[in-house]
Amino acid sequence: MLRTFRADLHIHSCLSPCGDEEMKPFAIVNQALAMGLDMIAICDHNSAENTAAFVNAGRKKGLAVIPGMEVTSREEIHLLTLFDRQEDCLALQDLIYQNLPGENLEEVFGHQTVVNDRDETIGINPKMLIGATLLPLEQIVSMVGSHRGVTIASHIDRQAFGLLGQLGFIPEGISLDGLEVSKRTSKEEAQKRFHDYQHFSFVRFSDAHRLEDIGKNITHFLLEKTSSAEVKMALHHQEGRRVVEQ
Ligand SMILES: [Zn+2]
Ligand SMILES: [Zn+2]
Repeated sequence: MLRTFRADLHIHSCLSPCGDEEMKPFAIVNQALAMGLDMIAICDHNSAENTAAFVNAGRKKGLAVIPGMEVTSREEIHLLTLFDRQEDCLALQDLIYQNLPGENLEEVFGHQTVVNDRDETIGINPKMLIGATLLPLEQIVSMVGSHRGVTIASHIDRQAFGLLGQLGFIPEGISLDGLEVSKRTSKEEAQKRFHDYQHFSFVRFSDAHRLEDIGKNITHFLLEKTSSAEVKMALHHQEGRRVVEQ
């Protein structure tokens, strides 16, 4: 049985240097539930170290949390990646870490707080998570695919760190699963501006870095259940799954 799920699959936690310190598991899960969401994803910059805590917090409160990451390619393009299995997400994180140079400058970029599922700080990530990896766009897309993940080009309407802003075009034959439009661009505007790319599925998520932004830009999916595999099917219009509204 298919039903509609309200999803915000692009949320940063306190692990992202640019994410508010209040972006901890229960605070985010409670806010997502208050906004009537059925499914969220935690996608920190180049790291998934907080995802397990969020998945557990979601499980306790009855909210589906998908582990993910927002990976930065060598071309400074942000890619939203989503997984069903924590092991796949962490295996990709290992590959990202091997290709992520530099150390964080806390006073410049902000804190990178690792938390447990009781919202307690258990560590500080020392890597320069805000930086670009050494990995080219297409290599990341194929790495995500081989780890059974979903890849969505983040905020393609934004000049900074958006696929179109950085490259000016979408490479032929690239196996992206979808394109995300930020809340800065209306649906009508996006339809006009990205008309050439209508063969891709479009989604809208909040890219929240603060609690009050969670659920402010969302996508309704027709799915059987909450999982990244189901989201992938919806993005490719398979077996009745689809994006209902974005
Ligand atoms: Zn981004
Ligand atoms: Zn983001």
